[in-house]
Amino acid sequence: MSGGVVRPSLLTVPRGHDGHLPRHYIQESVADSATHARHIANLLEEMKKGHVTASISRQRIMELIADRNSHYARSYPQLLSYVRRDSDRRVDRSTSWESESLPDIQFASGAPLYQVHYDPTDALRDEHLGNLTRVTRMISEQFDFPPGGIKVYLSKYGGIALHVDEEGIRGEVVSEDDLTSEFVPPNHLFVMPYASKRESSYVHELGHYFHAQSHPGAFYDLSRTTWVSDASREIAKKVSDYAASSPSEFIAEVFVKIVTRENVDIDVMEMYRALGGPLPGKRPRLPGWGGIRISGSAGAAG
Ligand SMILES: [Zn+2]
Repeated sequence: MSGGVVRPSLLTVPRGHDGHLPRHYIQESVADSATHARHIANLLEEMKKGHVTASISRQRIMELIADRNSHYARSYPQLLSYVRRDSDRRVDRSTSWESESLPDIQFASGAPLYQVHYDPTDALRDEHLGNLTRVTRMISEQFDFPPGGIKVYLSKYGGIALHVDEEGIRGEVVSEDDLTSEFVPPNHLFVMPYASKRESSYVHELGHYFHAQSHPGAFYDLSRTTWVSDASREIAKKVSDYAASSPSEFIAEVFVKIVTRENVDIDVMEMYRALGGPLPGKRPRLPGWGGIRISGSAGAAG
């Protein structure tokens, strides 16, 4: 995550006996706070700033992205929304938000796990939802989803303005916020168009979610924290360069490795555990306890 929700002053407040932030600080800083609501509202506005401007025909753009493995198709999947519109206008932006729950994934109680907010003209929506379903199935093989739903916001064009002409496709960042796919605690997931090509993006963001849910103290503590020793950074680097960028990202990146069943070195796992990283483990099925059901998957639900 890279959100501005957690105030820097949190890092100087007194710690509990276990070295973590006291619970009431966490609740005060997130639950129902005006800052938090403003941050969410701001991100939603930023997500609408991306757009596409084209001076060549839709047919020609279609040809540029026809091969799904081409550079353009992989880098700018959002162009699909542009070519599939019912309009001949040369500029397209996001329109309105709609919201619905993802019907395929429910808690055993019948409550939906995901509430999805999307632009009705987003051609990548179904691809995103398919990814989310697959990723959820994968995660739930090893982890129980905590009770309570997750709000997912899909961005049609992200924070990028794409200019398409005879010379090719150029992207320009038009969002003030650095809009990458992002988790905002306690349960908001912002998803950018490029994530439709990378399932691991969803697992990574859900890694932040599981971290925040399973060890909120450690999660908020680490949110604005950097490595204090080179030795720790070196261990993180074994996972990925992004993992080495901060302890929070380290947790999310290791979570991806666990979910995709890649090998994780012992020292990596020790550090992950020490930082409150969510650990695999399924609770026994008890009457009245949640668990999730995913349509069309035999035995994958918790
Ligand atoms: Zn992250």
